[in-house]
Amino acid sequence: MNIVLATRNRNKIKEIKKILGDLKAGISSALDFPGLEEVEEDGATLEENASKKAIIVSRFTQQLAIADDSGLEVDALEGSPGVYSARFAGKDATYDDNNKKLLRLMEYVPPKNRTARFVCIVAIAEKGKVKKIIKGTCEGIIAFEPKGKTGFGYDPLFIIPEYSKTFAELGPEVKNKISHRAKAFLETKRFLEESLIIL
Ligand code: IMP
Repeated sequence: MNIVLATRNRNKIKEIKKILGDLKAGISSALDFPGLEEVEEDGATLEENASKKAIIVSRFTQQLAIADDSGLEVDALEGSPGVYSARFAGKDATYDDNNKKLLRLMEYVPPKNRTARFVCIVAIAEKGKVKKIIKGTCEGIIAFEPKGKTGFGYDPLFIIPEYSKTFAELGPEVKNKISHRAKAFLETKRFLEESLIIL
């Protein structure tokens, strides 16, 4: 059995391969299929984007494809930026631009209303059809200022209450155990182990 990860992001490939670890399957990625088109993430939801990527990649490669899409949902902003997390401050926004916009919008929001969560949706597709959607979430609080140096994206603003530290302060060891992505891919691994024979 071969599985293909529908991403060209080397950090993600490394992180996901580590989680899927001893799964009895060959794991390749979009990097191994140079003819594969760049899939535009233009869906209205994380589910739509993950499904679109998994469907296109499974059709092209004729292998079981796994795609993910993730984002940050802030309660005080009615779930925004959500599916628009990467381009919150505009089309070519940097992580810093997005974080500054988030801090500006949250300036007068008191601590008790700064709740948020990271969400990761994994779609598993075979022969152009979605077989399973898996969701992983990680609850947190939006900080008043960035803290920490590791990670990416909104990590310096995302406080994990149990540690009173941001993801960027906690570092990859802890983050990769409790993150939305870690939870979604651990569940993905369980699903694949249980269903590889019948898929
Ligand atoms: P992707 O779908 O995993 O590429 O994530 C889309 C966007 O959501 C990223 O560009 C980040 O802005 C945000 N995001 C997703 N996961 C994380 C995370 O673990 N830490 C910080 N930001 C994240």
